[in-house]
Amino acid sequence: MGKGNGFRRNRGGSGAGESGDGRHDTRGGQDAKFVIYCPGTGEMAREGKRIMQWDVRFVKTTGSTNEDVTRAGMRGAPAGFTLVADQQTAGRGRMDRKWFSPPDTGLYVSVLVRPEIPAGRAGMLSFCAAVAMRAAVAEAGLPETGIKWPNDLVAGGKKICGILSNCQIREKKLDFAVLGLGVNLRPGSYPPELADRAGCLAEMGAEVDREHLLYQFLRHLDTALSALEAGGAEVLRGLKSHCVTLGSEVLVSGGTALKGVARDIGKNGELIVETAEGTLVPVLAGDVSVRGVMGYV
Ligand code: ATP
Repeated sequence: MGKGNGFRRNRGGSGAGESGDGRHDTRGGQDAKFVIYCPGTGEMAREGKRIMQWDVRFVKTTGSTNEDVTRAGMRGAPAGFTLVADQQTAGRGRMDRKWFSPPDTGLYVSVLVRPEIPAGRAGMLSFCAAVAMRAAVAEAGLPETGIKWPNDLVAGGKKICGILSNCQIREKKLDFAVLGLGVNLRPGSYPPELADRAGCLAEMGAEVDREHLLYQFLRHLDTALSALEAGGAEVLRGLKSHCVTLGSEVLVSGGTALKGVARDIGKNGELIVETAEGTLVPVLAGDVSVRGVMGYV
């Protein structure tokens, strides 16, 4: 753990259970490597903000932090349960694509949240994660970082972070969601064949302490989740003001193929694309890929 990275280590674990196989004791038990809580909750309370107790576990390696945290959620783990891995051996992007997560080069984190929102608004959760991590990366030295709709962070035209959210709906209500993020911190975090569209923070001049970035992300996520519970207008404002897709000519594939100019983002986070005929088509994040006509962004 780096000094002054914002965390207070609350309890040291035995170091066992580092395989990250999803069998973590979600109540802070023996097999956690670290159990730490964000400090500053008193400060946040004074500001009148909602307080989330983040219970962060670190493991050396796991298949997928999203899968582990989803299993924990099914077993009733509370909101705030967070798993960080030094490496993922089966990291996933959307549509079952691979997320390259080699050892000690990135921040691979999944967070369990149980916000009080209607199930129909669950799609907004990955925007909360995007807005929160964008702010954290910007503060860490890359203020020009943008959001490529719907779920990537880009800097200098390159993808530096991918986001994958899984939602569990029970009886038409959102039971919980898992927000997973992979942030490329250092060289080696992405394979050479992706060099035309992937990048990392260090290459762009931001040498970032992993735990500090995590701490800042969790602080911003807390704010974003509160804003979502309050209706989500603030989250949408954050998304729109940093969305690099808006104003670009884009190709939509995966669902109905479409080409046009991304004009706006609707109240449920849908991208509004204007076709050459002037028709405004709402595009849902679901299973589509959006690429810039002139390049990745
Ligand atoms: P795309 O980014 O290709 O438009 P997408 O946003 O739907 O699509 P994701 O599901 O977020 O993609 O991420 C998976 C894709 O990201 C992979 O197919 C691969 O192209 C790319 N990728 C995988 N690992 C990394 C990494 N560490 N850094 C950057 N890009 C990666």
